[in-house]
Amino acid sequence: MARRETAAGGPGSRALVVDVIRSAGAVSRVELTDITGLTQPTISNIVRDLLAEGIVRETGSSASARGKPRTLLAINPTFRYGVGFHLGADTMTCVAIDLTGGVVGREVVSRAPDDQLAERLAAQYDEFVAGLDLPRGRVDGLAVVAPTPPPGSSAEAAGAGSWLGRARGELRDRIGKPVIVENDAAAAALGEFWSRRISREQAFGCIYVSTGIGAGFVFNGALLRGAGSDAGELGHVSIRHDGRPCPCGNRGCVERYASMVATVDAARDRGELGRRLNLRGATSVSHAYDLVARAAVRGDDAALQVVDQAARYLAVAATSVVNLLDLGRLVLTGPGVALAGSVYARRVRAHLDETAHARRRHGVRVELSAQPRDAASIGAAALVVQAAVAPGHSPDPMR
Ligand SMILES: [Zn+2]
Repeated sequence: MARRETAAGGPGSRALVVDVIRSAGAVSRVELTDITGLTQPTISNIVRDLLAEGIVRETGSSASARGKPRTLLAINPTFRYGVGFHLGADTMTCVAIDLTGGVVGREVVSRAPDDQLAERLAAQYDEFVAGLDLPRGRVDGLAVVAPTPPPGSSAEAAGAGSWLGRARGELRDRIGKPVIVENDAAAAALGEFWSRRISREQAFGCIYVSTGIGAGFVFNGALLRGAGSDAGELGHVSIRHDGRPCPCGNRGCVERYASMVATVDAARDRGELGRRLNLRGATSVSHAYDLVARAAVRGDDAALQVVDQAARYLAVAATSVVNLLDLGRLVLTGPGVALAGSVYARRVRAHLDETAHARRRHGVRVELSAQPRDAASIGAAALVVQAAVAPGHSPDPMR
C-alpha cells in the first residue's frame, strides 16, 4: 500500500498516520514508515506535530531486530471526545466517546419534536456535555444521525432527512462546535471501524438491522458516500423479483422480509405465536420484536423459525453486497441483532461459506457488534472524533 505520492505530507498523510496508529494500537516510527510508504522525514514531522498537539503519546518501547529499542506511539484516548445523538422513533440516544471509541457517557431521552429541533438538540447537547464532567473545550462537536425515511412514506414526502440538514446550521451556531448530519447505518459502520481498530486496508462493511435495513462501508478509512450520500440502502436490494411490493416501487426488497417490522409481521401471521407472546400488547415494533427474538433464543420453536427465516433472507442480501464490493469483513449491528444476533450471524456465515464468489481467495470475517443497540449513536460520535483528528477522511458535513 505504498503511497509515495503523498510523501510530501498534507492532510491525507496525517489522516493515514493517525489511522495506522489507531488500528495498530501501538506502533513505532520505523513501522509507520514501512506500513504507510511515507518517507522517514515525513513520518518524523507528522509524529512530532501529533505529539505536540496531544493526539498521540509515547507509550514504552519495543525491542527491534537491530537491538536498539523503538519508542512506541499510541492514540491518547482522553485528548479529545465526540458526542453523537441517534434520533429514534420515540427516543434519542446520546453518547460520548473518547479517541479510541470507548464510551464515556450515555443517556436516553425522549425524542424532541421536529419543530424547534435545533433549539432542543442544542439544549440537550449543553446538558449532556455538562453532565460528562469533561473539559468542554475537549469535546469536538456533535453528530446527529437518523434513519433515511422509508421511500413513499409521509416522512419522506414531508422532506424528513432534509429537515435535519436544515437544522444543522442553526445547531452549529447554538453550540459553537462543528455539527455533522448522517444516516444512522453509515454512522454505525464508521463507529465499528473506529472502535474495533479495523485497518484501512480491509474492505469493511456493516449491516444495520432495525425497523428498516441499512448498510455502511468504509474503504481506505473513509465512508463510501454515493452520488446523493445514500450509499448503503441495502434494505431496497431485491432478493425476489416477484416478491412483496415495496413502497420504493421495487418488489422483493430485503427490508420486506428481514427487518424488525417484517419479522414481527411474520410472527403475527402465525396466530398462535402472536397470541402466546401477546404481540398485540406490545407498545412498539421494537418491543414486539424483542418479544419474538427473546422467545427464539429461549428455544421457542415457532419464534426461532420466524427469526431464522428472516436471517436466511438477510444472508442472501449480505452475500450480494459482499460479492459486489469484495468485502473482507462484515459486522452485523442494530437493535434487530441485539438479542438473537447469533441466529443472523450463523445464517450469514453459512451462506457466505457456500456461495460467496471470493470465498476461495479470501475468507469473509462476519462479526456481531458489541453494542448493537447503541451502534448508531457511537458511530455518530466516531464521525466527530474522526473529523477532529483525521480530517483528511472526514465525510462532507454539508450533506
Ligand atoms: Zn424497496
